[in-house]
Order: sequence, then structure tokens, then C-alpha cells
Amino acid sequence: MYHSLAKKYIRQHIELFGDEIYTLIDDTYNKESNDSLSSHVSLNSYKESIENCEKCNLSLTRNKFVFGSGDPNADLFLIGEGPGEEEDSKGEPFVGKAGKLLDKILKAIGYFRDNNVFIANVVKCRPPENRNPLLSEVEKCSPYLINQINLIKPKLIVALGKVAGQTLIKKNMLIKEMRKKTFYYNEIPLIVTYHPAALLRNPSLKVDAWEDFQNIRDLLKS
Ligand code: URA
Repeated sequence: MYHSLAKKYIRQHIELFGDEIYTLIDDTYNKESNDSLSSHVSLNSYKESIENCEKCNLSLTRNKFVFGSGDPNADLFLIGEGPGEEEDSKGEPFVGKAGKLLDKILKAIGYFRDNNVFIANVVKCRPPENRNPLLSEVEKCSPYLINQINLIKPKLIVALGKVAGQTLIKKNMLIKEMRKKTFYYNEIPLIVTYHPAALLRNPSLKVDAWEDFQNIRDLLKS
């Protein structure tokens, strides 16, 4: 009896969502840092408490620790991969070419980076030569991101690109598999779309990205 019910449930799940069972973000690995984070901590004092981080070798080559910036009460939390050269020199996320495109996309859906939007990266220090962050660097740095999410409590999280998507979903999925699905972190909806740098490299992706951002706008309105 239970066996056939379970089979029916799995069949329905596969019909609805395909044959992969998605695991939601496992935040247990952040338990330690969350426990030590008082709910009264302000985002600014949290920044001050971590900006001299030396947990990995990226601290040896960085110019500036890029905490993230925007509205501490934002509904929309955008997450990139890691600072590039300009971000590293200014200490602000997404201020280079990809950032300018991101600003344009946000404007097209009626949002501005300092108003109801917060932007941060998975790793807070620039990987040399803009290489992808190493798994060990992501593991050491992502508790900071999780604490930022917990402090800001956005209505919607948007992961920009594969690194941010895979870090938050904790699964090795391709970007095209992560798009158009809604994942959840602590009951906060999480959408994955292309990184703006990918749109600069391959403008034909802009059509899909625009579709994603229209969806993002609708989710924020709902
Ligand atoms: N790319 C990112 O992922 N983050 C930035 O801040 C800038 C470029």
C-alpha cells in the first residue's frame, strides 16, 4: 500500500519536475557562523567584522575586500561570482563593464542598485587573473554570503551565472538546467540566470536573460 503510494508520488514528481530530484540549499554547513551571528547585528557592523578576513590566499593578492553594496532592506539580492579588477580596486561589486550592463537590465525592470537591491558575490576577494574561485575558497567565503542573506532577508535571490547558482543550489548543474526553475533558500525563492559577463561575450543569450528578468520582475511584484 505505502509502496504503491510512494511510486505514485514519484511518478507525479517526475511528470511535474522531470527526473531529477533537486536538493534545496543545505545550510547546515553554515550553522556555526549563523549561530554566532546575532540577529541584532547591522549589515554595516557585520561588514566591519569580516573585512579583514585572511581565511584564504585571495586575501594575499586582493586590493580591497568587496563586501557588497546596496539597500540593507532590499527585496532583491543579486549574487555574482567574485570581484574583477575594477571591483578589487574600488571595493564595490559590479562596477566594470558587466556591472554597467547589469545596471541597464535592472533599470529595464524598474530597479536601481541602491534602491531595494543588494549586490554581492560568492567570494569577496578577487581571484587572480579573474580565474574561477576554487572550491576551497568558495567553502571558506560562502558563510559570509549566507549571513548576508540572513541579515537582509530579501524577497527574492538571483544567482548570476554558474558559480553563484551551483554554490547556492549545491549541485553541479549547468546554467541551462538551473534557469527557469525556482529553488529556495530558507523559503526565499532563488532564480538562476546568466552572468552579465556571459551576455557581453555572447549577446545572443540576451533574449533568454530578458525573459528571466521579466520573470524576476513579476516574482518581485507578486
Ligand atoms: N563579476 C562578478 O561576478 N562580480 C563582480 O562584482 C564583477 C564581475
